[in-house]
Amino acid sequence: MPLEIVTIPCLKDNYAFLLHSDDTGETAVVDVPEAAPILAALEDRGWQLSEIWITHHHWDHVDGVAELKEAIGAKVIGAAADAHRLPPLNHAVTDGETYRFAGSDVHVMDVPGHTVGHIAYHVPDATAVFTADSLMALGCGRLFEGTPEQMWGSLSRLAGLPPETLVCSGHEYTASNAKFAMTIESGNGKLISRVEAIETARAAGRPTVPSTLASELATNPFLRAHLPEVKAALDMKEATDAEVFAAIRRRKDAF
Ligand code: ZN
Ligand code: FE
Repeated sequence: MPLEIVTIPCLKDNYAFLLHSDDTGETAVVDVPEAAPILAALEDRGWQLSEIWITHHHWDHVDGVAELKEAIGAKVIGAAADAHRLPPLNHAVTDGETYRFAGSDVHVMDVPGHTVGHIAYHVPDATAVFTADSLMALGCGRLFEGTPEQMWGSLSRLAGLPPETLVCSGHEYTASNAKFAMTIESGNGKLISRVEAIETARAAGRPTVPSTLASELATNPFLRAHLPEVKAALDMKEATDAEVFAAIRRRKDAF
């Protein structure tokens, strides 16, 4: 039985995710912006929470951890590098580490840029990577702590995962990301059709997350800084990939 993924809208535009195995009855939640929607989602399905996986220290990803833990327990996993500014961890993980969840491997990836201690969780058996505010649908997180070089390195590592991987990111920012992406690559046919699909989904109140890595590779400007057509569009033919990424990120910050 494959692992099941449930997307849970939280706060104004955050997402948390449940990962569940019917075989073992185990359930993990990735990030806890607030406890109530997660408790409700668990109760709806009759699932027991076993683990809480934290991606990074920002309040909109951890604020509900204490309340959730108090209500139902569960083991908390997060980056060792950020243990001093995360809720108390039961298991502090590092880049390249693999741990087991419900009989499946979970690979921990350092993805600094948005924050320096940001990690992603890649779960091949779920064909999913939980990226929060590193790689996002048609976007990437703002560089609050890391450098453009760090974020470009993080995005490049994520880009190397299998293209069918579901990108479970932390926010519903896709509609505004789409408007920005069109300013970089207005002639990209796959981007144009994705923008239409995003508008339809949002008008119907449907989430645009998760997306697939294949779709991000074809349309997300932040993953495409190395491509000659993107460099040409920005008049940066001679620049390095990281310099082009930095220029796209600066434009988005001012968008
Ligand atoms: Zn954040
Ligand atoms: Fe966030």
